[in-house]
Parts: sequence; C-alpha cells; structure tokens
Amino acid sequence: MPDFTRSRERMVETQITRRGVGDAAVLDAMREVPRERFVDRGFEEFAYEDSPLPIAENQTISQPYIVAIMIEACAVQPGDSVLEVGVGSGYAAAVLSRIAARVHGIERHASLAAMARSRLQRLGYDNVEVRTGDGTKGWPEVAPFDVILVSAGGPEVPRALKEQLAIGGRLVIPVGVGDEGQTLLKLVRESATDFRTENLGPVKFVPLIGEQGWAEETPPSKATTAKARPAPSLPQKIGEAAELLPDFDNPAFPALFHRFADKRVVLLGEATHGTAEFYRARAAITRHLIEVHGFTIVAVEADWPDAASIDRYVRHRPARSAAQPFQRFPTWLWRNTEVDAFVEWMRYHNEAVSPDRRAGFYGLDIYNMNDAIGAVLDYLDTHDPEAATVARQRYGCLTPWQKDPASYGRAVLSKNYQTCESAVVAQCRDMLARRLQDGADDIELFDAAQNARLVAAAEHYYRVMYYGSAASWNLRDTAMFETLERLLEARGKDAKAVVWAHNSHIGDARFTEMGMVREELNVGQLCRQRFGADAALIGFGTHSGTVAAATDWGGDIEIKRVLPSLPGSYEQLCHASDMPRFLLDLKRHETLREELLKPRLERFIGVIYRPETERASHYVQASLPQQFDAFVWFDQTTALTPLGPRHAKAGAADTYPFGL
Ligand code: SAM
Repeated sequence: MPDFTRSRERMVETQITRRGVGDAAVLDAMREVPRERFVDRGFEEFAYEDSPLPIAENQTISQPYIVAIMIEACAVQPGDSVLEVGVGSGYAAAVLSRIAARVHGIERHASLAAMARSRLQRLGYDNVEVRTGDGTKGWPEVAPFDVILVSAGGPEVPRALKEQLAIGGRLVIPVGVGDEGQTLLKLVRESATDFRTENLGPVKFVPLIGEQGWAEETPPSKATTAKARPAPSLPQKIGEAAELLPDFDNPAFPALFHRFADKRVVLLGEATHGTAEFYRARAAITRHLIEVHGFTIVAVEADWPDAASIDRYVRHRPARSAAQPFQRFPTWLWRNTEVDAFVEWMRYHNEAVSPDRRAGFYGLDIYNMNDAIGAVLDYLDTHDPEAATVARQRYGCLTPWQKDPASYGRAVLSKNYQTCESAVVAQCRDMLARRLQDGADDIELFDAAQNARLVAAAEHYYRVMYYGSAASWNLRDTAMFETLERLLEARGKDAKAVVWAHNSHIGDARFTEMGMVREELNVGQLCRQRFGADAALIGFGTHSGTVAAATDWGGDIEIKRVLPSLPGSYEQLCHASDMPRFLLDLKRHETLREELLKPRLERFIGVIYRPETERASHYVQASLPQQFDAFVWFDQTTALTPLGPRHAKAGAADTYPFGL
C-alpha cells in the first residue's frame, strides 16, 4: 500500500488546523491514525479528501474535519473513559483512543461492529472495545463516562446518555428534525440535574436509529410516526448528494474544492455573464488553488492584450502604456467590483512570491485585434525598429477595419477587398522565430508573440464569421484552447491552470446541442480530450434573481430579473432540491448521475438576456452529468456591480489597472 503519511500531514494542516482546530492532542492523534485503513477497499486514494465516504450498510465514515471538531469539543483528557455511539468504520474510536484511557464503542449493524472490532485489533488499538447494540440506551455497565460522542443524528438528546454522563462530563451529538441536517450540540453536565448546552453549528449526519432515536425506516423528517419511507424524488436525491456551500469567506468553502487540487486544469464556468455569486465563488476557489495548491495560471475568457494589463499589475511588472483595458463591449465582464477585488488579492499574494512563481492573469480570447496590433508594434519599436517598419506595412492591410473588424469579413467576402491573411501569418511567423532565437523565457517577447498569434487568429475569425457560426465558433474555441496549452508549456512542466469562462465554453460541447446538433466544439471538450481525468469541468447554475446583461449587442448594461427556471430543466430539479447553494460532485454519485443522464433543458445567459423569448433564446438540450464533472448551484443570485467612477481609489496612480 502506498505511504499516506504526507497526505495525512496535509489533511491535518489544510482541512483541520487552518479551519481553527488547535487542540494539540487531537491534531497529533489525527496525524497518527491511518485513515486509509478504515475506508472500504478501493477508496484508499480518497481517504484524505475533505468529505465523508461511503462504507457498508449504507453508512458513512465521517469527514475528518467533523471528527476533529467533535473530539476537540469533547475536551478529551488522558485518563478519560469515553463512549462512542455509532462506531461505523471505527475511525473516530481509534482517534479517541490515542487521547483517552478507554473507549467503548457501540454500533447497531453487527457486520460493521465486527469489521471495526477486527480492524482495531489488527492495528493494535487495544484500549477500544466494540459491541453491537442500540447506542441510544448507552452502556450502563461501564457508565459513567467522562465523554460521550454520538456519530449519528437524533431527534433529541437520548435520556439514557444524559444519565450516563459523569458530573463535569461532555456529550457531543447532532440533533435535528427536518431534512436539512442537524445542529451539533455540546452538553456539559454541571450537576446531577443541570446541563449547560452549546450550539456548535449545522452538520449533516446519518440518522441515529434506536429506542431513544429515530424509529427504524422512519425518515428523520418532521414525520414522527414509523411509516415506510416513500421512494425519494430526483430533487430529493440531488439534495442528499449535494454538499451545502458555506459563506464565501468561510475557509470551509474553498476547502470543498480541495478534491480538484491535483488536476492540471480546473475549469470554472458560469451560467450567465453577469452574476456576482459566480465571480465570488470562482475567486474563492481560485485563491485556494493558488495559495495552497500552487496553481500559477488564471486564464479567463477575456482578450489577451486586455488581460495582459492586469497581468502586469498583479505580477508587479511595469505597465505597457496608458491604454485602459476592457473598453470594448461588454465592459462589465471584467470591469466589475468582484474582479477588482480578486485582482487586488492576486497582486497582494504575489508580493511575497518569487517572480517566476507568481500567479499570472491571462486572456484566452481573440477579439481585440486593434490592441494586439498595438502591442506587437510597441514591442518591436523598443527592441527592433526595422522589424517594426515591416510589421507596420503588413498590419497596414487591416487598418481600414481595425476599429470595426467585423466589417472586414464582409468586405473580403464581397471580393472588393483583398485578404490580409498572408501578411498577418508572415508577421506571426516572424515573431515566433524571434522567440525561438531570443529565448523562450522572455515574458515581454512571449506577450508580443501571443499578440501576433491573436492578430492572425482574429483575421481568420472575422473572415470565416460570414460563412456560418460553427466555423467561427470552432476557430475561436480552438484558439482559446491552444493559448491555454501554450501557457501551461510556458509556465513549466508542473504548471497548473484555473480557467474562468462561460458554461458554453467549459462544459463538454459533445453533450449539448452545440456538439449534438451544430458540430461545435469548445475548450472543455478539447481539455478532456487532451488532459483526460487531469481536467475538471465545473459548471455553475441558478434558478432566479438578477443579472447584468444587455438587450442587444453593443447595448447598455441593464440589471434584469432572471425568470424562474422552466419546468423540465436541470435548473428546476436543483431548485426543487430545496438546497440554497451547493456543490454536486457528479463523479461521486454514480446512481444519481445515471438518473440525470437523459438530456433535459439547460439555461445559457450570455451578455444578452431576452426574458421575453427565454425558451427559444436561452434554453438548449444538454446532458449535464456528461457535460460537467461537478455542478455548483446558487438558487438565488444577484447581478454583479460594474466598476464606475464611484469605485475610483484615492490618488491617480491607485486607479491602475482599470483606469477609473
Ligand atoms: N464514527 C464513525 C466513523 O468514524 O466511521 C461514523 C459512523 S456513521 C457517520 C454513523 C454510524 O452510526 C453508522 O454506522 C450507523 O449504523 C450507526 N448508528 C446509527 N444509530 C445507531 C444506534 N442507535 N446505535 C449504534 N449505532 C448507531
């Protein structure tokens, strides 16, 4: 079996210590107990993930963090006698046994109790005794206990357990009625009759079934009679599989995405181009991937030269010119308060990092031909004025169309105008040859060469635009993907990237109408084909709220109401799950995944939103579990805030990089 020592160390550091568990005895115990020996065969590689895992009898081994906070709350002392109700795999009992004198564990499933008993014996935890039975009645022969830890959720605190707690003893138990989980309670017995109770926050445990718990087969819901549980509906199954998302600022939020940390590329989508929650979630996840897991590339659906201005700012490199980025419609995509806050964070984070390890902000898109031409010429003016003259002549072919490149394609098509293809391709070749010759590590040259590529790709894009949308879409997404590949190559062999783009770019196109009907491909599909399981495609969705969007191309930004999702859509299923915000890991829930496979409606809102014709304009058929590896849901969402003069920071220099 592989050595998991480092994974265990990392688990304790990132999932437990950083979230505020500070009890040295608990941390030491968790560093010692080999969690991989307590999971079912085949699950070893997931043993140090930040989540519960399935074990036999439809039960779970609890999330490591939850085990840690429960044990810390119990304030276990070296001489203590402990009772654990719900031994399951035996993991929590083993951790307890490293601190307490004796641990008594009860498990209602005989098969689990037997497995835990032999596992604990084999691993040498000889101060743990396990028996099969109903733990809600406690273990009167051994009582009183200094500590009682209940690892399953009951309707109330069992009377027997309170009675069997020593004076001064601590009892920790999840209690709750309703389908949304339980509240973790800590009771301290202050006298024969008095208990002090503390609320430790929301949790989600399997039910505590027994005489003083839930009746067998009774759902832990508001129903209290022991009726057979009806088969759960699809939204209920989504609700059960979904992992509730905490606040963005809570460290538990990004930690839920820890499972994607070993990927080469993590693609984060969005169902609209104007929703604050999508930006904030992506920022929180990306900060974590950069800070804790060494990602160095943030590649976004923005034009290369515009993003390059931000990159100069965040990597503490000198500004190229006074040019202000993101002046083209739709400006709010990147000129908004959420992106501004993230950019400031990147700059701050990079300050303490050596220049070659600094995280960069890059644009994958190809629309801004005008600024890309300007950037190539700027570079050559400084480094090789003769070559700059040649480049000016070549790019001169595009001068009439530089401000309105879309009309270039029409002019070429009507045969009144000669194509500039050979001129821009020649210039691109020259820049690449210069890169080969002058050194691959020169950041300024890499930037200039990338701008020359953009001009060549944009020239082609605007020319084929008039032949039909599939050809130009495919050209654009292929160019975006190739830029991503080049970035990974340029940032070193271990480089890892986060991509921010619309769901239409990052969800595998083969499983939406794009691929199924229109022969369109996209960045997500190309990433899967190139990186396989090393790419994680994560979609984002919403039911209703507000969104920043325009009514027509080139129109003003408006804050529009997002209509409630349509019946028959994936969004409607997520909404009916009654979970306000969640992560649904489609790879971990095979049966649910299969039930969701059949194509359904899915909503795509871009920079234009037309609620009047919503069904025709914004919904397409898709198979969501094939399109994405995971789905992030915010039931109610709000429009992002565009940057305006009121966001200008004090002092002219401080307005950089957005130039407010
Ligand atoms: N501490 C366990 C671990 O580390 O693997 C977690 C086990 S799981 C979250 C909860 C366990 O409680 C299940 O194995 C379930 O069978 C058990 N359980 C539920 N009701 C019980 C009861 N009344 N008495 C004993 N065990 C019970």
